[in-house]
Order: sequence, then structure tokens, then C-alpha cells
Amino acid sequence: MKVGVPKELKAGERRVALVPEAVKKLVDAGFEVVVEREAGAHANLTDAEYEEAGASVGDASAVSSADAIVRVAAPGPDETPAAGKVLIGFLSPLNSPDLVRRLADGRVTSFAMESIPRTTRAQAMDALSSQAVVAGYRATLAGAESLGKFMPMLITAAGTAKPARVLVLGAGVAGLQAIATAKRLGAVVEAYDVRPAVKEEVESLGAKFVQIEVQQEGEGSGSGEYAKEVSADVQRRQQELLADRVAAADIVVTTAAVPGRPAPKLVGADMVRAMRPGSVIVDMAAETGGNCELTEPGQVVVKDGVTIDGTLNLASQMPYHASLLYGNNVVNLLKHLAPEGNLALDFEDEITAGAAITHDGQIVNERVKQNMAPNPQADPAVSGGSQ
Ligand code: NAD
Repeated sequence: MKVGVPKELKAGERRVALVPEAVKKLVDAGFEVVVEREAGAHANLTDAEYEEAGASVGDASAVSSADAIVRVAAPGPDETPAAGKVLIGFLSPLNSPDLVRRLADGRVTSFAMESIPRTTRAQAMDALSSQAVVAGYRATLAGAESLGKFMPMLITAAGTAKPARVLVLGAGVAGLQAIATAKRLGAVVEAYDVRPAVKEEVESLGAKFVQIEVQQEGEGSGSGEYAKEVSADVQRRQQELLADRVAAADIVVTTAAVPGRPAPKLVGADMVRAMRPGSVIVDMAAETGGNCELTEPGQVVVKDGVTIDGTLNLASQMPYHASLLYGNNVVNLLKHLAPEGNLALDFEDEITAGAAITHDGQIVNERVKQNMAPNPQADPAVSGGSQ
């Protein structure tokens, strides 16, 4: 099976789907790999390194002739693979009905990295987690960079600097990495999550868990390890109780998310006003609207003297390691889908079935199917229902 790695064309995307180490793993497993010229340039990877790893380097048409196209961001209309090809990437299938329709109509067999079930068995393919690790780390660094203060306590002949206070809201994969990074930089760290189960993990990183007793039994914890949306009343009480923790912080990193829902608003405008001028909020939930009421997704703004960083795609700012981890996730998925180097799809398998979005001209993912508006081309009687 031949795997093609295109150059990412989406604005701001600096990652690449496979780094040379990942190429080598595939070649050793019997795959052929073709990489588009300069595909790794933004991650400082040269074509020569890809060739040394066993890939051939070619133009966009050489890549699109491969059996499977692996990429980071979803393909634009001009990048849609041809019929019968396999496509793997962050396809955001629940938010991209036009793309899903295009892939189904174009008879592309597509797999969305974000739809891989988050089970122990699929952990090595879990790109949401691998990229959250990178983004959590970057978020703390971005906060430290904007803050005009030291992170650690420093005792110098000219005086003593107190350590910075960092508050992390949401202690999932990204939040825990943000906490660990802030601790390594020497800050005093507190964290809060609606799931009380994470208290131990937060404390094991040396941070203090902010206890907020607002929950009814079971509120906040959803199925498995995931959060569910809390009621408006609980959210309001959370905000009241968090207000003094936010006001005391130099940096607030917010990562709170509920799968498939807009980000919960945890930091109101009044809470921003109560922060010391010069403080920083890094809102990792900006992608889904933001945890702070004043966040402007994609922008860094200063409101009431507080820097509010709503930068999107933080993982892309560390393109080498983000690509390294992502590439390993992709290699593991490819080996799962093509164990002998040839595609052998088993739709009874929960990983294959969970990640597959389109196959054989059909949308095969139930959640995505339910999310789609009726196709007006398929049934002219429902015209007007298109996106
Ligand atoms: P996420 O990005 O969906 O959410 C981030 C955090 O925000 C979560 O911890 C959530 O509880 C929290 N949150 C939601 N609403 C909140 C609110 N109102 N106030 C405060 N916090 C709020 O989550 P994630 O990091 O992708 O994953 C969540 C959990 O799933 C983690 O504990 C992780 O360890 C686990 N997980 C397990 C596997 C696996 O078993 N393979 C894989 C991935 C993640």
C-alpha cells in the first residue's frame, strides 16, 4: 500500500502528517511512502531526511496517486482525494457536513482522527490526546511569555521575586500538561475541574486542587471519564466560587470542554476586571467559543489590562513534536487498518468502525449521519435543507 503525505495548505498549519521517523516505521512494515516536496518545511524537516527514511519525494500529483492520503487538516475542495482512495486526518466530521458529503459522493474511504474511540486499546492512535499534550505545554509557555513577571521564586542580591500564581481550569489531558509545565517553571499552581476524580492527578503533579462543592450527585461527570454539561445554576455558583481564585492568579489557563458542546463560560467579564493588570488568560477552549466571556477566538486582546490569548491551533506552534506524535498516531492507525501493508477493513472492529466516516459512497459513521442535514441532491423534495 502506498501512503501519500501532502503539504498542508491550511493557513497557520505548520504540522505535517508524518515525520521521517514515522516514514521509516511504515517502510519497515512494508508500506511505500511518497511525500510532497517541502511538506515538512514548516516543521524544519528536509526532503533529504524523508528520502533517507525511505520515502520518495514528489509533487502533489505523485502524492494524490497514492492509495492512502494522510494529512493533518481536512482537505480543501481542490485537495479531495480521488474515488477509491483512503483519507486520514483531522476531518472534524461533525462540523463539516459539506466535506463529509463530498467524501461520500466522491467514494473516498475516510477516517477522522478525532473520531477514534478514546479507549485503552486505541490510546496509541489517540491524536486528540497527543495534540492536547503539546497544546497544554504551549499554553503555559504563552502565558509565561506574556506575563511581565518571573515564573519561579528568585532570590537575588537586588531583591526577591515571588513565584507566579497559575490557575488551570479543566484538568483533562491538556490541563494536566499545562499544570506540569507551570510547575516545572517554578510557579505556584492551582487547578479546578468539574470532575472530582481528577483531584488525585492534579495533586500528584504538585498542584493544589480547588475544591468547589456545587455539584449534585453525578453532576459534571459524564459517561466513562468524560465531563457532561453542568446546569446553568451550577455554572453560576462555580463562577462565584472561582472568582477569588481567578483574581489571585497571574496566569489563568482554561481548557474546560465538554465533547460536542460549546465551551462552558467559566470566566466572566467581571472576573477579568477583578484580575490585576498585567495578568494573562490563555483560553485553550477558544476553538469552541472560549471559557472566558471576553475571548476573541484567534486573537490576543488586552481587556482591562489583562491579556486574553485566544490563539487557535496551539499544537501547530510546536510543529516538530506535534508532528512526531501525530505521525505515530497515524502509523498506528494505518497498521491497524492494513496489518500486512494492505488494506483489510473490518467494520466490526470498534476502532475501524468508530474512526470511519465514509466508505463505498456512504456515510458509515452513525453520529455523523445523524448530524447531517438531508441531502437535497438525493431527494429534490427536501430542497432548502442544505447547508
Ligand atoms: P476535554 O478536552 O473534553 O475537557 C477538558 C477538561 O475540562 C475535562 O477534564 C473536563 O472534565 C473539564 N471540564 C468540562 N466542563 C467543565 C467545567 N464546567 N468546569 C471545569 N472543568 C470542566 O477532555 P480530555 O482532556 O480530552 O479528556 C478527558 C478525560 O478523558 C481525561 O481524564 C483523560 O485522561 C481521559 N482520556 C482517556 C483516554 C483513554 O482511556 N484512552 C483517552 C483520552 C482521554
